[in-house]
Amino acid sequence: MRSRVAVASVVALLLVVAYVRAQQFGNQPAKLNIVKVKDDLFVIHNDFVPGNTTALVTDEGVVIVDDKFEQDAPNILSLLKTVTNQPVKYVVNTHHHGDHSGGNARMQMAGAQLIASEQARRYMVDGKQPGQPGVTFVDRALIHLGGKAVELYYFGRAHTGGDAWVLFKTPRVVHAGDAFANKGIPLVDTANGGSMVEYGKTVAKAFAGLKDYDTIITGHSTLMKPADLKEYADFNNDFVAWVQTEMKAGKTADQAAGEYKIPEKYKGYGLGGDLFGGFKGRVSTAYEELGKK
Ligand SMILES: [Zn+2]
Repeated sequence: MRSRVAVASVVALLLVVAYVRAQQFGNQPAKLNIVKVKDDLFVIHNDFVPGNTTALVTDEGVVIVDDKFEQDAPNILSLLKTVTNQPVKYVVNTHHHGDHSGGNARMQMAGAQLIASEQARRYMVDGKQPGQPGVTFVDRALIHLGGKAVELYYFGRAHTGGDAWVLFKTPRVVHAGDAFANKGIPLVDTANGGSMVEYGKTVAKAFAGLKDYDTIITGHSTLMKPADLKEYADFNNDFVAWVQTEMKAGKTADQAAGEYKIPEKYKGYGLGGDLFGGFKGRVSTAYEELGKK
């Protein structure tokens, strides 16, 4: 019981540190640039923080996915003006975190309709975040604009309990959000429905469910291919299987965390960022989730 209390207070402290750090990241507008991915699809990119913004330009308006921190919204809008005169009609939030939805209130003021999964909206409401989506979906939704269709999916718990995946059938691009932020041990927001144990299964479902694309825009990293998504599912499932082996061998979460090495076949993968308890936090999360089963 004692160690449980200790773990809880450490987790609480780490969340406070994570929150403060996120605020610091968001204090200054990030330096952004707009990069054409294909045809009428662009990424507004920056170095790691805040998350990638995708923009699909149509002749009836623009659909964007994720709008970074509040301070970044004016830059997003002015960069869009360099490629189109069309207004932003829809903003899809892949999840509720401030580096992906912080620009919501400003986008709403600029006339955009906000859309997120029902769960992501719930976390925004609970967190009293400004700019809450007026439209939500449970499993799947379609946006039709300017003769183009944008498909939104929820495949299950991963980074949070409300991660949306966005498929632009033309021009064959997926925006994965932080469910596939980069190649590494993922960040898992357990306070808001995230799951280390479900993570790989959810990514595998996304890989099976998403069709007709050849490029993936990750939450915080570079462009990837469908094969990378499959590999990422395997990486996470293998990680959970490894945790199970360590548990069976009687290791504590701390001992296990000290022993883990990225498997040879996943060369180049990282141990993940230090938010939400860092790598040790991820092992502890898997231990706790598996312990409840
Ligand atoms: Zn996130």
